[in-house]
Amino acid sequence: MLATAIAEKNAYAVALENFDLAANALELEENIRAMIKYPERILTVSIPVRMDTGKVVRFEGYRVQHSTQRGPAKGGIRYHPNVTIDEVKALATWMTWKCAVVNIPYGGGKGGITCNPKEMSQGELERMTRRYASAILPIIGPSKDIPAPDVYTTPQIMAWIMDTYSMNLGYPVTGVVTGKPIALGGSLGRNEATARGCFYTTRGSLEHLNIPLQGARVVVQGFGNAGSIAAILFHEAGGKVIACSDTRGCICNANGLDIPAVVEFKKATGSVAGFPGADWLKPEELLALDCEVLIPAALENAITEENAAAVHARIVAEAANGPVTPEADRIFDQQGIFLIPDILCNAGGVTVSYFEWVQDENHLFWDENDVNAKLEKIMVRSFNDVLKIHLDKRVNMRLAANMLGVSRVAEACRLRGLYP
Ligand code: NAD
Repeated sequence: MLATAIAEKNAYAVALENFDLAANALELEENIRAMIKYPERILTVSIPVRMDTGKVVRFEGYRVQHSTQRGPAKGGIRYHPNVTIDEVKALATWMTWKCAVVNIPYGGGKGGITCNPKEMSQGELERMTRRYASAILPIIGPSKDIPAPDVYTTPQIMAWIMDTYSMNLGYPVTGVVTGKPIALGGSLGRNEATARGCFYTTRGSLEHLNIPLQGARVVVQGFGNAGSIAAILFHEAGGKVIACSDTRGCICNANGLDIPAVVEFKKATGSVAGFPGADWLKPEELLALDCEVLIPAALENAITEENAAAVHARIVAEAANGPVTPEADRIFDQQGIFLIPDILCNAGGVTVSYFEWVQDENHLFWDENDVNAKLEKIMVRSFNDVLKIHLDKRVNMRLAANMLGVSRVAEACRLRGLYP
């Protein structure tokens, strides 16, 4: 693991702190706070898996439904050695505000298994996934809670969950998960959606700050689904991606990396490390590069009070969930760095997941241009909604986005009249 990896900061504490800041700014009544702040349902499951050696290993898995005030719970499933119940609670909480910011009819949920998928065979992964799906089956479903991919989970893994659920019900239920393969009711454009949303909101931020996109220097931490596709989009739009990284290394070229070649290199070797025609960097040097746009697209707590002052970007676009801590936010405010908060910046993924679910439930599929056009409309509108609060209320973009998300959930709660 690289040195910048995760400082020990409890993501759930960050999620609660950000909620309190938004609730205070909105002067939200205590009764509503009590109703919407904490997860509605938390499930921990034991997942015994027969490994290829014949030995049975027990994994622990989670599914958290933070909110169903505005619709069914919605959120990804993460397979990672650092998954904890608090991390899943934090990610579920962020999903609630995120779905409300882009105004799609979902609450928030998240799931995860503490495991190292990189060390597991396909057979082991499939058995673990199916057992996990069975264990959480009573609380998921197209009208209850709809999982999706997150870190180290794939369309294939979603297909296994869909199949396990359908086998139990006795008929195909494609709408139980999103991020599925296209052949099983997946949506065109879903794979690129998170990165597209990041691109649209960053483009809006560049315009707002009067910085040309042409030639804008972009740095990407984390070259997975979100990060690598964001790099391609900026490259295609005339930006200059000068550095990127994954768990094995960071590469840099001040004249701009040949991103399609980096993508091919990573496909062939499993990493960006060793890409010819680029210099090596230390992880802390990558985050400190002079650039117009820094995109943390790996995991939580990449930028903390320890390294925030070293950041020399005009815009930080949070493609990852929770990469910048509240202390780092305050340092960015002092430095005049414009932050696009995660619940806005990476909301393109859940938005196209919503489109996928709508298509599945209606058995009618859209072409890719349709998906992308609808996504762009929602992302541009949501960016402008948050920017307006930022400017009108003179609060930073994180607080503005949280205020928008929390106020919409509070309004739903008030209208439902769910007081005890
Ligand atoms: P992914 O598994 O496809 O990619 C993660 C990448 O980050 C990998 O390349 C990995 O090597 C790299 N990485 C991990 N730790 C790193 C470190 N310390 N330094 C540098 N690189 C590191 O995952 P993803 O789907 O792209 O998700 C990345 C982030 O985006 C997560 O926070 C996730 O919650 C968020 N996100 C993803 C989606 C989506 O649709 N995929 C949607 C919303 C948010």
